[in-house]
Amino acid sequence: MKYSKAFIHTERTVNEKLDATSHKLCIQAGLIQQVSAGLYNFLPLGNKVLQKIETVIREELDAIGCQEIAMPIVQPKELWVESERWNAYGKEMLKFKNRDEREFCFGPTHEEVVIDLARSKVSSYKQFPFTLYQIGRKFRDEMRPKNGLLRGKEFMMKDAYSFHTSNEDLDREYNALRDAYFAIFKRLGLKVIGIAADPGEIGGDGSEEIVALSKFGEDYFIEQNGVVVKIEENEVEKYSATHEIFRGIEVGHIFKLGTKYSAAMNFNFVNKEGKKEPVVMGCYGIGVSRIINAIIEQNNDEKGIKWPVAVAPYQLSIIPLKYAGSEFEAIVDEFDKAFTKACVTTLVDDRDQGMGVKIKDSDLIGIPFKIIIGRRFNEAKEFELEIRATGEKKVMTYNGKETIKEITSLIHG
Ligand code: ATP
Ligand code: MG
Repeated sequence: MKYSKAFIHTERTVNEKLDATSHKLCIQAGLIQQVSAGLYNFLPLGNKVLQKIETVIREELDAIGCQEIAMPIVQPKELWVESERWNAYGKEMLKFKNRDEREFCFGPTHEEVVIDLARSKVSSYKQFPFTLYQIGRKFRDEMRPKNGLLRGKEFMMKDAYSFHTSNEDLDREYNALRDAYFAIFKRLGLKVIGIAADPGEIGGDGSEEIVALSKFGEDYFIEQNGVVVKIEENEVEKYSATHEIFRGIEVGHIFKLGTKYSAAMNFNFVNKEGKKEPVVMGCYGIGVSRIINAIIEQNNDEKGIKWPVAVAPYQLSIIPLKYAGSEFEAIVDEFDKAFTKACVTTLVDDRDQGMGVKIKDSDLIGIPFKIIIGRRFNEAKEFELEIRATGEKKVMTYNGKETIKEITSLIHG
């Protein structure tokens, strides 16, 4: 992509009232733009990162046999009455009527819809187990949308639902999903910890929150007898004299639902003995858009974002002293072609701007590798390779395919 053609609009300064570093950087780097409180446009750079995160999630879930579906955002009241959540869910659920005076909501979650789907298709124990997931939009009319994508009203979630004929089989799938979650977060370059919830809290079936440590996290934790436990915000003062307080961002949540929803919604299967039993379920969420902030929180410096290669909107910046009509145009095009062929995504800064501006923008946007081409190239075929994560700089001599190969293997690791 040529920078001059790209819809990339960085900002050098940012509203100082914004709190989280990651939110400031999302705005400054031009990843997102606010439409209204809690509602954001994803701009090309932000959208690319979002899609890369989705790809990692898809690959890991598909690898353990989960199957992707897509459910509607708008959901009918009737299903929520069945599960007894139409009134119980709370004000986060945005409800409305259509032209026929029928009531609907914008889905804050999809247990009701997925159960209605599953019960229309399966009834024999032979048709279990299976796990369905989607990556899509949720709407929650949050009281205090905050810090951009960290707590939006409309946001992207991966939600998975597993269906079983026994608790043992639920345990097996729950553990498989849990392992997949840690694999996903590792590939995304996130340092996370798992926090097992108080088992009493959700009917004794168990759940775990996956939390990315960050000083702007909304959740607070302490270590007690070797286990990390969640504390409420109003308990922070009480514990701070005796404990170290950690903060974190909840990026995932896995639940053993048991038969809570299937019993309420009359979703049964016929067992080997020909008797009806309620289906056993698990549900598993990942905050896909919130992860963008979590990654930035853990990967930034005073210059901007430092994307891990796996989620970078572009992997390599090619920054020549000059481009159009200059002596550098040919070599820039040669690099661009060769790296694109080697499956490295490139952003060519062809703008008529000073080197300083171009380097600053690349660092703010967080592109993991830079090739800087100046006068030394004409004299000795020398250019500079810079690694954003470490700040390492390396003078290299261009040696055709060999050089491309060397840099490509650095990028792809
Ligand atoms: P929270 O306690 O942060 O409100 P939750 O317990 O309501 O989260 P779940 O219903 O478990 O969240 O949703 C699954 C995941 O979706 C969460 O782990 C989180 O990463 C993400 N998520 C939830 N609410 C939001 C939001 N308002 N904006 C962005 N991501 C969200
Ligand atoms: Mg919530």
